[in-house]
Amino acid sequence: MILRSFAKINLSIHLLGKRPDGYHEIVTMMETVDLADDVAVTGQESGTTVTCSDPAVPVDGRNLAHRAADLVRDRYGLGDRGVRVHIEKRIPVAAGLAGGSGNAAMTLHGLNALWSLGLREEALMDLAAELGSDVPFCLYGGVAVASGRGEKVVWLNAAGPDHPESAGSRHPESAGSRHYVLVCPPLEVSSGWAYSQSKLELTKDSSCINLISSVMQAGDVDRLASCLHNDLEPAVRAAFPEIDRARSLLADAGLEGILMSGSGPAVFGLASARAAAERIASDLRGRVEPSWRVFAVSSKSRWEAGV
Ligand code: ATP
Repeated sequence: MILRSFAKINLSIHLLGKRPDGYHEIVTMMETVDLADDVAVTGQESGTTVTCSDPAVPVDGRNLAHRAADLVRDRYGLGDRGVRVHIEKRIPVAAGLAGGSGNAAMTLHGLNALWSLGLREEALMDLAAELGSDVPFCLYGGVAVASGRGEKVVWLNAAGPDHPESAGSRHPESAGSRHYVLVCPPLEVSSGWAYSQSKLELTKDSSCINLISSVMQAGDVDRLASCLHNDLEPAVRAAFPEIDRARSLLADAGLEGILMSGSGPAVFGLASARAAAERIASDLRGRVEPSWRVFAVSSKSRWEAGV
């Protein structure tokens, strides 16, 4: 079976404190966008085999899809039941777009079906949280606010996929799609490093989350542009001039709501429509070196992103 493993962007990240386990306490608002890897999950006699179209991605036990398979096998006492996972990579790696987390999330869904485990949302979310902070969000995607180290997810659309009220509701985010241009400089930024370099928010003010969700519900893209925020951005910007160049490219193209996603280096800007995003992306591709990657993307609702 082949699953689409979508990227996410962070519309906001607030660092609220440092936890005893070394992680940061955060509040973040995430949105799935339609840039995707393909994750093919098939059976094999025994063991886990991961392959990836991008030779830079590790395929051993460091790969999050590999770890997902090993975790499920251990947790449910499945002996040496075999799985092969092939990842067709399109999402830039270590770019702040949760590529690896999405691959792990889709591997969990794939194994649930392949091995007929019958796991529902809660069990899948628990497994996902053990694999990484962004993996629970990536299980279903859409728009959500995540807290803790990012693993406590509240979706902005009310009911989950297992909820009877959800039947037949395909587009819970009534305000429709948002469109972005994404610029990815040729850098890999370690999330751990970005967190360690960033200052905690003294005011602990995460009220902008409420503001963002209300303007999104209202479909007010102009106001959304003015309330995006990422506490990780100043430190990454200071260390990597490429972030400012990406920002300038998007600003010169007339985009607003420009922000680094996650720990970077991907930077996005809000476009008024998909056609405008495509036109700007194609223009920017002609102006940057081939190692810079530029995408026009649109938001995906929870149902489109999940399986
Ligand atoms: P996040 O936003 O969740 O912090 P990211 O988008 O910044 O993630 P990833 O693309 O997930 O970063 O890659 C981070 C690191 O994880 C890479 O350096 C890579 O070696 C490793 N990795 C492990 N599994 C994968 C995978 N399936 N795809 C990509 N990278 C992976």
